[in-house]
Amino acid sequence: MFLQRLKLFFILLTIISASLLIYFWYDNYKFKTSDLDESTKRKIYEKTVYLQKLAYSKFAISKNIPIKVSDKMPSNLFGAATLSQDGKIVVFLNKKRFKESIDYMIEDVLPHEYAHALMFVLGDLSKENGGHSKKWQSICKALEGKRCDRFVNYHDVIFDKTNLF
Ligand SMILES: [Zn+2]
Repeated sequence: MFLQRLKLFFILLTIISASLLIYFWYDNYKFKTSDLDESTKRKIYEKTVYLQKLAYSKFAISKNIPIKVSDKMPSNLFGAATLSQDGKIVVFLNKKRFKESIDYMIEDVLPHEYAHALMFVLGDLSKENGGHSKKWQSICKALEGKRCDRFVNYHDVIFDKTNLF
């Protein structure tokens, strides 16, 4: 009786371990495949280099602004420009949104957020219209952005918070 129970216990243990192993393998696999592919990463990099060139030629700004792709952003945000208390500027792009349109994220969202970041560099922290002032708009257009609409309801300009996404 005891031996039979022991046998049953080990069989169950084996099944549970095997299930866990498969689960972890699957989870890892899922994460890898949902990561941005190399061609998308290259496109982001090339666009960033291009935006840096425009920022330098049009505004004499040579600051290197980091672009981070995060999967921790709320789904309603495509991107965000953040300025921390210690003056660190980071542009975030929402990884979840890349599934819909890579071109939209790179050609529309990235220049839009980059223009917010340049406003920070210029020391203009205007909260007018959620950061979508006329000056921001002119910078956005100078960066050849396609989404430089001033009347938006995104809250994509974020101040004074650290470890946001
Ligand atoms: Zn914006």
